[in-house]
Amino acid sequence: MINHHPSSDRLTAFSAGSLPLSQALCISAHLEHCAQCRRDLKQLNQVGSELLSQLTPVAVPDALKNKVMAAINNPEPTSIVETGERSPSSIKHHSDSQTPRCLKKLIPNGFSGLNWKRLSPSIHATKLCSDVNGSKIEMIKIQPGGQVASHNHTGEEITVVLSGSFSDDSGIYRQGDIIFRNKEDKYHRPIASQDSECICLTSVEAPIQFTGFFARLFNPLIRRSHYAS
Ligand SMILES: [Zn+2]
Repeated sequence: MINHHPSSDRLTAFSAGSLPLSQALCISAHLEHCAQCRRDLKQLNQVGSELLSQLTPVAVPDALKNKVMAAINNPEPTSIVETGERSPSSIKHHSDSQTPRCLKKLIPNGFSGLNWKRLSPSIHATKLCSDVNGSKIEMIKIQPGGQVASHNHTGEEITVVLSGSFSDDSGIYRQGDIIFRNKEDKYHRPIASQDSECICLTSVEAPIQFTGFFARLFNPLIRRSHYAS
C-alpha cells in the first residue's frame, strides 16, 4: 500500500505542466503505482480544461501561430540530457518488468541493463540524466539490509521506490512511495529491508552531505560528481 504521495500543490503544478522535468519524471513514476493520485490528477486535468474553455479567444498574430505550429511539428530535444551510462547487456531480470513506462527511454534494457557503479559493498548507483535546472536524476540500488551513510540535504531530494522497500527514522517506504527531503529535514540514514534489494529513482537538486566521521571524506567527491556533466 502506498502511504507517501506528492502534495496537492505539486500535483496541480504537474497537471499544469509547470514542473521541471526532473520532478515531473518522479511524479510520473509515482502515478504509475498510485490509483489515488491518478484519480486526483484526472480531476485536476478536468478543472484545467474547464477553465481553459471559459477563456475568451484572442486573435493570435500569424507569425506567432506559425512559430507554435513549427515547434509542434519539429519539437526541440528534451531539456533532459542523457548521460548514456548504460551497459550493452540486454539480459532481463525479474525486476526489469517493474521499470516504469515513463523511464523506458532512459532504461531501455531494464534495471539489470544499467551501468551500475559500486559506491559501497551494498550500494550501487547510476546517473540517468541531468535536468537543465541542474538536478541530477539517478537510480540507486541497495542490497537487502544495506545502509546508506547518514547524510543531510543541501537542496531538494525526491525519491520514488520502484522495487523493494527501505526505512529511516521517519518511517518505511514501499514500492510507489514518493519521498521529498530538503535542507530543513534533519539527517537520515536509509536502510533497505532484509528480504529484497531496493531500487529507487532519485532527483537530487544539490549534492547530499555525509555526516559520519569517515563518510565525510567523500563529500568533495560527491560534489564533484554532481556538477560533472
Ligand atoms: Zn499517490
